[in-house]
Amino acid sequence: MNSHFIQGPPGVVALETTGHAGLGTAMTNKVHIIGGGLAGSEAAWQLAQQGVPVELHEMRPVRPTEAHKTDALAELVCSNSFRSDDWETNAVGLLHEEMRRAGSLIMTAADKNKLPAGGALAVDREAFAGDVTTALAAHPLIEIDRGEIAGLPPADWDSVIVATGPLTSPALARAVQSLTGEAELAFFDAIAPIVYFESVDMDVCWRQSRYDKAGPGGSGADYINCPLDKEQYEAFIDALLAAEKTAFKEFETTPYFEGCLPIEVMAERGRDTLRYGPMKPVGLTDPHRPGVKPYAVVQLRQDNALGTLWNMVGFQTKLRHGDQVRVLRVIPGLGQAEFARLGGLHRNTFLNSPKLLDESLRLKADPRLRFAGQITGVEGYVESAAIGLLAGRFAAAERQGSSATPPPPTTALGALLAHITGGHLSADGDGGSRSFQPMNVNFGLFPPISVPRQPRSKGPRSGKSFERKRAMANRALADLDSWLSGPTASVAAE
Ligand SMILES: Cc1cc2nc3c(=O)[nH]c(=O)nc-3n(C[C@H](O)[C@H](O)[C@H](O)COP(=O)(O)OP(=O)(O)OC[C@H]3O[C@@H](n4cnc5c(N)ncnc54)[C@H](O)[C@@H]3O)c2cc1C
Repeated sequence: MNSHFIQGPPGVVALETTGHAGLGTAMTNKVHIIGGGLAGSEAAWQLAQQGVPVELHEMRPVRPTEAHKTDALAELVCSNSFRSDDWETNAVGLLHEEMRRAGSLIMTAADKNKLPAGGALAVDREAFAGDVTTALAAHPLIEIDRGEIAGLPPADWDSVIVATGPLTSPALARAVQSLTGEAELAFFDAIAPIVYFESVDMDVCWRQSRYDKAGPGGSGADYINCPLDKEQYEAFIDALLAAEKTAFKEFETTPYFEGCLPIEVMAERGRDTLRYGPMKPVGLTDPHRPGVKPYAVVQLRQDNALGTLWNMVGFQTKLRHGDQVRVLRVIPGLGQAEFARLGGLHRNTFLNSPKLLDESLRLKADPRLRFAGQITGVEGYVESAAIGLLAGRFAAAERQGSSATPPPPTTALGALLAHITGGHLSADGDGGSRSFQPMNVNFGLFPPISVPRQPRSKGPRSGKSFERKRAMANRALADLDSWLSGPTASVAAE
């Protein structure tokens, strides 16, 4: 029995087991995929639909992880939501739509098993994972092997996709580390919030590097500084101490390294700890009030080459998300801040991808290994599956003797790929320092677009920001369609 997508009524895609496109292609050597989660399952499907045989290695149930509860492929370990399904004004909704157009198995199974959830795409988790497992098991070009790959793959596996996720087994993680160097594979993320540049009040903040140091790639005015006087600092500390924290999961045990303590833990150690740490006011002069020395300063550092995203330096935090927004908006200049990512601290295995991977997700140090999913430094079910989709297509193109063309950076798929393979700016400008932290897809990753002035209109989804998102989304889908019809991008979805 073959797996096959059929197009039902408009907008409805069903997953059937009747025959499939792509089998006419000459048989080629198989590609091995390690990890049958969101990314590995999608990669396997994309390869097989191109006529490339796959052996998918999944260690469950032989060896469990700390979070998975079943032996199903593509198990959702926590929430059952794929977040917003609005392709016009939400970047993850746009990613859904792009993946649908690219013949995604994960999106087909999600659409088939969706539950009522307002504007979000939520799924019946068991039926969803069951459908993915059945489709992969039924595909004649996919062989599923249940067992852990406990070291580097054998030398005769010449094309491998590693999609072992945030809970990669320790033996494989150690083997990957032997190739990448110890510092380049992290076991926890320590995420500081990221702010959209356009939401920072530059009438309050200013650009300056400490002591105007230019450094290797800078200008001397590389940071955005938010000044606090004594009263504002005390108010910020009070808000921080009163805010609600999230607990670590049992298997995460307390992973505090002195170099990346959460700000709330620093504040608990003493009211002045932050003022002598990430909020120290030295080497900076506020041009708006040159005679007044700030009591403390929060610094934002450019996070992407486009200059649209800025991360809050040293501000990793485990505050609950609602409280985070409230507390961070107490900081002068951030009163209206919009966040592309909020802070967090989790158990997570991920590579310093901008330094280690090439643009088709291959490890520069050993190009037979390609990486996909959360281990590449994306965050979330949908983003992990999206990178699996790309890794599968790239590996298929390579097997078929053509070169992989990455999707344009104006698409959600391309913007996400560009971020992990080069768009992120490291703290020292050359990828050497580990400032790369996991990221959800968001419009800040897309090249800017200008929209004509709109006549003022009222309503919840009107205004310049919505128009800009709509323009980006329409540009993305048009560019995606051209990419999909190109020579190396087509995967049979019919
Ligand atoms: C506890 C937890 C909760 C999360 N909650 C959410 C959430 O609510 N929403 C969200 O969007 N994202 C969430 N994430 C983040 C992330 O999006 C998911 O973990 C997602 O499943 C990642 O997809 P993946 O394919 O990269 O990894 P996974 O889906 O984890 O798949 C990796 C697979 O590889 C297998 N494996 C590992 N090592 C080996 C090996 N050596 N040999 C063979 N197989 C191996 C594992 O058993 C697993 O099946 C959560 C992560 C964690 C850890």
